[in-house]
Amino acid sequence: MKTISILVPCYNEAKSLALLFDELNRVISQMDMYNWEVLFVNDGSRDNTMEVIRDLRRKDSRVSYVDLSRNFGKENAMLAGFDYAKGDAVIIMDADLQHPPAVIPDMIQKWEEGYDDVYAQRKARGKESWLRKKLTKLYYKMLQGSSRMDVLPNVGDFRLLDRKCVDALCQMRESGRYTKGMYCFIGFRKIGVEFETQDRVAGESSMSYRKLANLALEGITSYTTAPLRWATFIGIVVSVTAFVYMLFVLIKALLYGDPVAGYPTLLVIILFLGGIQLFTIGIIGEYLGKVFVEAKNRPVYFVREYNEK
Ligand code: UDP
Ligand code: MG
Repeated sequence: MKTISILVPCYNEAKSLALLFDELNRVISQMDMYNWEVLFVNDGSRDNTMEVIRDLRRKDSRVSYVDLSRNFGKENAMLAGFDYAKGDAVIIMDADLQHPPAVIPDMIQKWEEGYDDVYAQRKARGKESWLRKKLTKLYYKMLQGSSRMDVLPNVGDFRLLDRKCVDALCQMRESGRYTKGMYCFIGFRKIGVEFETQDRVAGESSMSYRKLANLALEGITSYTTAPLRWATFIGIVVSVTAFVYMLFVLIKALLYGDPVAGYPTLLVIILFLGGIQLFTIGIIGEYLGKVFVEAKNRPVYFVREYNEK
């Protein structure tokens, strides 16, 4: 019998977990041709998420958990889950029921057809603000433009991964993790199934605009080195323009003399170039920072407890 693991990273999800497990249970109980494992990764929650998980495990032996030593962030929590999941396939989903368990049978069907990476694609984004939707759209456009590998829009971490994919992801141990980019990087046979995003059942999204902006920057800088190339291009364009302008100024001075003026032009050019220089140093800094972090080669997470003995 094949085993399927359902991997749920949880951060302060005490209120959603029981609901989630109820819904999951309804779906997976109907599919008893598989062994099921529901693996909760408690990502250093500050509420009583851990008690809720222990409670679930006491009632149902299909529940497992990994309790991390502190909050490491969803990406790292997912890696912990990949390391501990036992399944021949792993289904990742959010704890807040934004990912409807009803899609699971569709995913498994595709898996049985021979696909290795079945991703769930949102038909419409739920109740998110207009600005957030627009920003997300713009971001994916930029990301797709900057690299040969396609990061699909409206596709998140809700997906089924075959053991092959999970093993591949486990081999990528970098600390600055951008799992969405990794799914593309590893390749394998992919296919999508559609679903409609639900609204969060309880608790609050931990994703503020600030966090999203950071994640977006993290995404670009760990996915592609294209910004470094942009910096080079900007440099070339500015240099060529400056050279042409230099000729112009020189010739003008030779022909008409030089009546020391042009203070505003000078100021604008100096400020403009200063801006570009700081900007590109910032880009280099981003990558240098990544090298610094990766060079330390620290473990991505620490485990306090894996299932009670
Ligand atoms: N999550 C996590 N660690 C964190 C933040 C979030 O494990 O530091 C989990 C969270 O419990 C949920 C999932 O990641 O299961 C998605 O989080 P959230 O709903 O806050 O993000 P959004 O749906 O707004 O992108
Ligand atoms: Mg959510």
